[in-house]
Amino acid sequence: MVEERLLEPGLNPADGPIEEGLRPHQLVNYVGQKKAVNNLKVFITAACGRAEALDHLLLYGPPGLGKTTLSRIVAAEMGAQIRATSGPAITRPGDLAAILTNLQPHDILFIDEIHRLNRTVEEILYPALEDFRLDIIIGQGPAARSISLELPPFTLVGATTRIGLLSSPLRDRFGIVMRLEFYQVEELTEIILRSAGILNIEVDKNGAAEVARRSRGTPRIANRLLKRVRDFAQVDGHNLVSQEIAAAALDNLQIDSQGFDNLDRLFMEAIINKFNGGPVGIETLAAVLNEEADTLEDVCESFLLQSGFLARTPRGRVATRSAQVYFS
Ligand code: ADP
Repeated sequence: MVEERLLEPGLNPADGPIEEGLRPHQLVNYVGQKKAVNNLKVFITAACGRAEALDHLLLYGPPGLGKTTLSRIVAAEMGAQIRATSGPAITRPGDLAAILTNLQPHDILFIDEIHRLNRTVEEILYPALEDFRLDIIIGQGPAARSISLELPPFTLVGATTRIGLLSSPLRDRFGIVMRLEFYQVEELTEIILRSAGILNIEVDKNGAAEVARRSRGTPRIANRLLKRVRDFAQVDGHNLVSQEIAAAALDNLQIDSQGFDNLDRLFMEAIINKFNGGPVGIETLAAVLNEEADTLEDVCESFLLQSGFLARTPRGRVATRSAQVYFS
């Protein structure tokens, strides 16, 4: 379904090259997340002042909120190089050893989806993070011996959408842990106006705000919707995306005034109508909706929770009173 893909906060192949062009490269262009950004500024200035690597940094929060972007900005602000990989891409300890031994002093190692690192790889990471040391075993059987290599001081920036799945020894090795929040409409409006400038799309402030309101607090979705709205405006012969044009385009895409799409509606209606408002487990909902539980958690749940339409209890998901009113 088109609308499902549009509101999927994860990266999809169509976002690729354009998303790169829209990524801010400096902290001054990174909109919102004021608390995290202000703290980071202090930590970066202090580390630079001491000519040290920045402490290891863990960024967590739903997809599309700017974790990758922030990691690159940190590298740029530190004047360091960034080496990017992801948890599932590092399958063997040797893969990680190769990456670590190629780092330069003060480099940033970015590991996306760090909760998906496997345990044997994770164990190699502990001494590397703590003492900048790599312990490896060479050979097999009785002839095996362990050697310890010194690593340059580096900064690990880990990103995850599921901090709860991170093992506590790994989590404890991050000196700085930051949670990224959903963006306010005003912040998303600013991001949309900036992206429109880069993509040469004429959009007025009200048009940008209309897209922002329906973007689920997520910059990646805001940029994606902006491009789709432009298509509607162009085909209808409008040069400027006004509020009216944006609203009509998003209505056509079945994204309502709160940013909910068909999947959200089906999700909430299932809880309200089939399970009497809940509580109901996510696996049961996934079976009823014929979707993956992970997809429901990433795509629907976090935003519905944030919007106050859904509550999580130990016995399962519950529709709140406002959800009963809105989705009935
Ligand atoms: P994540 O790593 O959390 O999934 P990304 O860093 O890839 O998210 O961000 C997705 C896109 O959203 C980026 O390409 C960028 O264009 C935009 N974006 C994210 N955060 C911001 C921000 N604070 N200011 C401006 N644009 C942003």
